[in-house]
Amino acid sequence: MKTISESDFQTKCSEFVKREVLCCQSSLVEELLSKEIFSYDDIQNIYPTFDEEEIEAGVECPSCTQVVSKTDSVTGQCEDCFEDEKEPQEVFEWWAVSGWLSEKLMEAGEPILENEHGVWWGRTTTGQAIMIDGVIRGLVKRFWEASPEEALEKPITAAPDLLEALEGLVKELEPQWPIENAYLADAFCCAKEVIKKAKGE
Ligand SMILES: [Zn+2]
Repeated sequence: MKTISESDFQTKCSEFVKREVLCCQSSLVEELLSKEIFSYDDIQNIYPTFDEEEIEAGVECPSCTQVVSKTDSVTGQCEDCFEDEKEPQEVFEWWAVSGWLSEKLMEAGEPILENEHGVWWGRTTTGQAIMIDGVIRGLVKRFWEASPEEALEKPITAAPDLLEALEGLVKELEPQWPIENAYLADAFCCAKEVIKKAKGE
């Protein structure tokens, strides 16, 4: 297995967050939920999932005292007790995230709100940098171990309509090259760069 120092790992986590987590929209999402423009029914994983931690020797469930070999890694309970007693996860912040990250967070059991307007991650922690959230570290670690080059140098994910707008800009400015206006020249180069990265070129 490849090893990586904690400080290099943190750099990877920070790059990962910069690339996949777009912006915090807690008050917007809360407002839309409270006005019923967004529906609570569109939030998935609001209840935690039983994650089947295997304990070969068996362990006593803290609720029913039965000895079982599969428990939830967070509560230590057997599946029946876990299902009976589970509480909804508390969402502290709503973050707009890339479609790719939303899928990974969904698989990891994180609350995800998805509707025709977009996709948001319901973050169940607050008051610390996202890059040190357990779920984010877990994802980066998993991809690092699987295939570090591929996973962490993955092309940036740009929204299709943003990409379209940038392509329009490039098309319009291309015949004018070299562009005298420094601001426009800069925007042109940036747009080309983003398109290139988004297409994984
Ligand atoms: Zn039990």
